[in-house]
Amino acid sequence: MKDLNSILDNQRAKFREVFKYSVNELQKRIDEIKPSGVEGDIFSEFPTESSGRKWQTDVLNMLENDISKDIYLKFNEILAERKNYHCNCCATCCNLACSEFSPDELKSRAENGDNFAKQFLSIFVPYKTKEEARKVYPEYIALLEQNKEDDVYFYHCPKLTADKKCSDYENRPQICRDFPDNPLTLLPSVCGFCEWKNENEQMTLLLHAMIEIVEYYKEKIPV
Ligand code: SF4
Ligand code: SF4
Repeated sequence: MKDLNSILDNQRAKFREVFKYSVNELQKRIDEIKPSGVEGDIFSEFPTESSGRKWQTDVLNMLENDISKDIYLKFNEILAERKNYHCNCCATCCNLACSEFSPDELKSRAENGDNFAKQFLSIFVPYKTKEEARKVYPEYIALLEQNKEDDVYFYHCPKLTADKKCSDYENRPQICRDFPDNPLTLLPSVCGFCEWKNENEQMTLLLHAMIEIVEYYKEKIPV
């Protein structure tokens, strides 16, 4: 429990750090293309046809065409590296899947075309009680409790055999093949993707921070 908690605390602290760093770096890039003689910052109101307005348009283009594209490419690079790592068949993610959605909510999402919900429901069934889930991964449940994450539903896959094998391996859905699809996912220490997570966590945090900051600028620049 202590380990998972410190991993999460560490991740939050790193995010705060990379967020501040990213704000400064982006501001530098914005200032680098600021035309001389323009008074005011990127959020100021400038008259149409002014150099200030042109600067704002250039910044929006840079955010949209350069920075957002770079973020997308970097995410893809990280995902591509994942193929160098392999599942150790510890079965934790088959035995305990968490969702913010109840079975009924998932059903309604699936009926409305949500492909993830559809796949999820094709394999997972809910645990009857949280205590059942706790037996599988006590540290994870304790972590959620400690962080007051109360609205979480716990599921498991009945296709998992007693000797921790997938009884329908060839037909397992894409969500099983893709797990974990993000280096920020909390993983048991035995997971074969921990190294991938550790190597890419910092960059993924940076990319998430950049997405938030880019969205903020796009919304606040008055063009
Ligand atoms: S279908 Fe197989 S791989 Fe997917 S969760 Fe179930 S047991 Fe695990
Ligand atoms: S937690 Fe990791 S190692 Fe364990 S079954 Fe899932 S993907 Fe494989």
